[in-house]
Amino acid sequence: METSNYETDVLIVGGGLAGLTAAIKIKEEREDLEVCVVDKGGIGWAGQTPLTGGMCIYVESDSANEFVDSVVAKGYGLANSEWLRHFASHLEPSSAELFGWGVPFMKDQEGRLYAADSAFWGTKNKVTGFVPHKTTLHLKKLALARGVKLLNKIEVVDLTKEDKRITGAVGFNILSGEFCVIQSRSTVLANGCCNFKGRAWFTMNVGEGVAAAYRAGAKQRHCEYAHQYDPVDRQSETWWRAEIAADFIENAKGEKIFQKYFPGQTRLGSWALSYAMGAEVMAGRGPVYFNATGTSYDQFNTRVAGEDIRVWQFKQGTFLEPKRVHFDRGGHDLSREKSEWTIMFPGRLGSVMVDLNCRSTELEGLWGAGDTVISGCAMNGAMSANSYGRWGLPFAYVTALVAAKDIAKVVPETPKPKANLEEQKRLKDRLFAPMTLKKREFEPWDAILRIQQVVIPAQYALIREGNRLIKALQTIEEVQKEILPRVKAETPHDLVRYHEAQSLATCSEMLTRAALYRTESRGSHFREDCPERDDKNWLKWIIIQKDGDRMALSTMPVPGSNSPEAAKR
Ligand SMILES: Cc1cc2nc3c(=O)[nH]c(=O)nc-3n(C[C@H](O)[C@H](O)[C@H](O)COP(=O)(O)OP(=O)(O)OC[C@H]3O[C@@H](n4cnc5c(N)ncnc54)[C@H](O)[C@@H]3O)c2cc1C
Repeated sequence: METSNYETDVLIVGGGLAGLTAAIKIKEEREDLEVCVVDKGGIGWAGQTPLTGGMCIYVESDSANEFVDSVVAKGYGLANSEWLRHFASHLEPSSAELFGWGVPFMKDQEGRLYAADSAFWGTKNKVTGFVPHKTTLHLKKLALARGVKLLNKIEVVDLTKEDKRITGAVGFNILSGEFCVIQSRSTVLANGCCNFKGRAWFTMNVGEGVAAAYRAGAKQRHCEYAHQYDPVDRQSETWWRAEIAADFIENAKGEKIFQKYFPGQTRLGSWALSYAMGAEVMAGRGPVYFNATGTSYDQFNTRVAGEDIRVWQFKQGTFLEPKRVHFDRGGHDLSREKSEWTIMFPGRLGSVMVDLNCRSTELEGLWGAGDTVISGCAMNGAMSANSYGRWGLPFAYVTALVAAKDIAKVVPETPKPKANLEEQKRLKDRLFAPMTLKKREFEPWDAILRIQQVVIPAQYALIREGNRLIKALQTIEEVQKEILPRVKAETPHDLVRYHEAQSLATCSEMLTRAALYRTESRGSHFREDCPERDDKNWLKWIIIQKDGDRMALSTMPVPGSNSPEAAKR
């Protein structure tokens, strides 16, 4: 197999919103630094960003404290107030910076960035938005104009290391199968989180950055809360926001279900509605339906689209308006027919632990931005990773700008790494091992499906129980020991799928081990066998780190969690 060698000052893995923003900002700060963005897909189109709703949380700097207090109060004692404050205080200037770059945000009549009061979650914030598919293409053009090198169709598999310093990465070209070695003075992981291939739209990101960082020795935090479920229409995968849909979801007997589990509560978001739906199905009262029959559509639509920014987004073609999908496209009239709903699992394991400069807390020369670090910052406390939608995009550009400024300061003083041919050979052998097998006993999909069977169903990641989690871990281990070593890859495309399966196995093990370790129930982590909240033992974050061949778990106190106020949260 041929080898391509690259050398750069900054390697950015992943060319989504976080990766492109970081690349542009580094060039703005230090034009002389060589910056290279590598993506397994086509930069500008790949990843989650272009497929999202483009809605962005916005907090004016002078309301940052109020916002932080409102989120901490809803975090069941585990919210990371330090990171939240950092995020909140950067939101206004960072959004303004991207607006200044020409990112297509919604504007007010005077042509300024528009932000409206937000109708959801009861936290103190506003909401703005941009057109996501135009944004990534715009950022790609800007990056090229500033001299950033963009490499498409390269699957990054492992980080290279010199003692505790990251010195770049290795991967392969998905089209030609060529081995790629990229030596770099600094490396940014911006290649998303693990979405477990749990929804049709989000299959590229399987936590390969998270798993590579884990193998290299980076600490991971808060994995048990990376279990995002989305309530959606079974047929079209579209949805109404959970806070609205909750009023219309009923079980097979026609009983409304949400208030049964969360009496008097309205703003708990997707995890709570998912919980109610999962519990009803597990109790044999499924399937569940969205039933808005007898409701005038206009009245319903006004409620749902109450935020003018959402109406603007529909007009930009960003999100398909649910009415269009249900009625205009599917011929399904919601005012006369109910539709079956289910819970989909995109998960959101982006657990790499970073400091406030977005540097890995363990490894030199490594930064993380965007979804790769989103659950590791533990900002929403004991709530599943999507409790507050509209954080992901701003978090991606805030962390990218923070990391970029730090890199621009540090890298000019950092020596170039030396090539380590022995390490390259070892990683190359590991990377291509599935192509050298004689017999094809398993397909990569055999591994992926086995893992999904013990992670995605509600009885594993949503409504948890010790024995079931142990069974899930046994299956994951069986996949790691018995199936993956016998997967033969015939083509570079098979090889991508193999490495995705391997990463999925590592991420699933982290999610499941952390869920088993936390022997209590708190927020969206619910254990049937430990139903009570246990503040005496569990006002702590769970940390995972590689220890030889073992995944080692420990805990870390949440700063300020011993205060009497924290215990009440
Ligand atoms: C249904 C849905 C709707 C959403 N809507 C919103 C919303 O309205 N507002 C909001 O704030 N957030 C939303 N989000 C969250 C948002 O999508 C993410 O938080 C955000 O896009 C993350 O940006 P990123 O740059 O970190 O990742 P991405 O945009 O996913 O970029 C990661 C890149 O890394 C590449 N990559 C992955 N693995 C490798 C590898 N091994 N080697 C090389 N490259 C690799 C991928 O191809 C991709 O281009 C939504 C999420 C979902 C699931």
